[in-house]
Amino acid sequence: MTRESTAADHKTCPMCAEDIQQLALVCRHCGYDYTSRSNDGTSAKANGLAIAAMVLGILWIYWIGSILAVIFGHISLQQIRKSNGTQSGRGMAIAGLVLGYLGVVTLILAIVGALLVM
Ligand SMILES: [Zn+2]
Repeated sequence: MTRESTAADHKTCPMCAEDIQQLALVCRHCGYDYTSRSNDGTSAKANGLAIAAMVLGILWIYWIGSILAVIFGHISLQQIRKSNGTQSGRGMAIAGLVLGYLGVVTLILAIVGALLVM
């Protein structure tokens, strides 16, 4: 967790444990193939926070759901990215994020509208 800043653009190779570029498809140290691993998504299980983000985005709950959907959406996308294909649910996380941001934007518009009326 202390390597959070470098983890964004680097990942650790599961074969040789070297730090390699996040976008690398093949490890430059040992030749480990990431493309074949990520295509094998049949056993990947959906990220729980991604599901929560989508559900909260739909539920809205007076903008509480929208704000939580944005937070959970970002966290789950990070977790899915770090899982190297062992977790799915990216689509649900993005759906939650979009719905959440839409909710937050309508909240801002409602506040601005209320201020203009006063
Ligand atoms: Zn490697």
